Amino acid sequence: TTDVDEDETPIRWFRINTIKASPETFFENNEFFQRLQPVNSIDEITETGFIYHDDYIPHLYGIHPREKLTSTPAYLKGEVIIQDRASCFPGYILNQDPSDVHIEIIDACAAPGNKTTHSASFLPDSPDSVVYAFERDSKRVKILRTMCEKATGKAKQNLIQTTHADFTSTKHSDFPNVTGFVVDPSCSGSGIFGRALEDSQREEEQEEDIDTERLNKLAGFQFKIVKHALLFPAARKVVYSTCSIHPHENERVVVDLLTDPEIKGKGWRLETRDNVIPSWPRRGWKEEFTVLAHGDEAICEELAGGCVRAVPKEDGGIGFFAACFVKKGETTQIGK
Ligand code: SAM
Repeated sequence: TTDVDEDETPIRWFRINTIKASPETFFENNEFFQRLQPVNSIDEITETGFIYHDDYIPHLYGIHPREKLTSTPAYLKGEVIIQDRASCFPGYILNQDPSDVHIEIIDACAAPGNKTTHSASFLPDSPDSVVYAFERDSKRVKILRTMCEKATGKAKQNLIQTTHADFTSTKHSDFPNVTGFVVDPSCSGSGIFGRALEDSQREEEQEEDIDTERLNKLAGFQFKIVKHALLFPAARKVVYSTCSIHPHENERVVVDLLTDPEIKGKGWRLETRDNVIPSWPRRGWKEEFTVLAHGDEAICEELAGGCVRAVPKEDGGIGFFAACFVKKGETTQIGK
């Protein structure tokens, strides 16, 4: 989800890879970054020489796309990783609640590994911490391995275990201690520049132009992968994401999962907004939740709050969707 055409990228986002580098000493150790002048918003990055510290994701920064980031020692050593802001949402959402620490997590659809390495960076500094990363494509799994090796180095190489396999063929009983999941399956990619529709194209009449059959096919495949994740024995948080702007692949997949006979009654619900980057203003499309909320506006709003959206370019990067499923304590069962 980071394949952004450099010429079209409004901002180049990068994060300090906290697996390898300390955010406290990063700037004093890296002259290239130290000389950049801090600004308070991405709109102020109209030319090179400026840096914006993101308000939403820790250790994430925005700079001008023409900065020579990829030739810096920090980049070459894997101490910084280029990753679109919205693509950082899933790893952060999974790990943002300090009262809900994960030790073992699964990245179901991992290559090239941006979300894998980001998720790994939040795990406790312990030999027990591990991300199991699955990728079914033989070429892409090699890219995944290279990226993970670069991000962890030899010292932390056991932090990520990559497997060339179809995630849906994994046995639930083989992963009894995995509590957190990042599920970022293949999608239409309609949030990636060039392929994106403008937000105004949400209107119903425009939907006729969309290849609904293709989207519904993708949605069926996305549903299957997320459902597999929701059925792991110790699973308590699953973050589903796409770089699609279409509700077919986003809110509608979420609604289908919450009303699925095998999922219903297992305690899953959508997380509340306060644990899903609360200050990010753009949430799920609430009208898509009407069926779950029996028309109750407040419930629609609450459910939509468990999802975040990003509009391509307007929100400083790719178009994106993420929803956070949780299973814990006293849950209000949705979709009864
Ligand atoms: N999460 C990645 C990142 O942020 O770098 C991007 C993932 S990309 C959107 C989807 C990936 O999932 C593709 O590499 C695809 O080959 C893989 N994939 C699709 N279905 C899969 C499955 N059933 N099991 C494992 N990998 C799968």
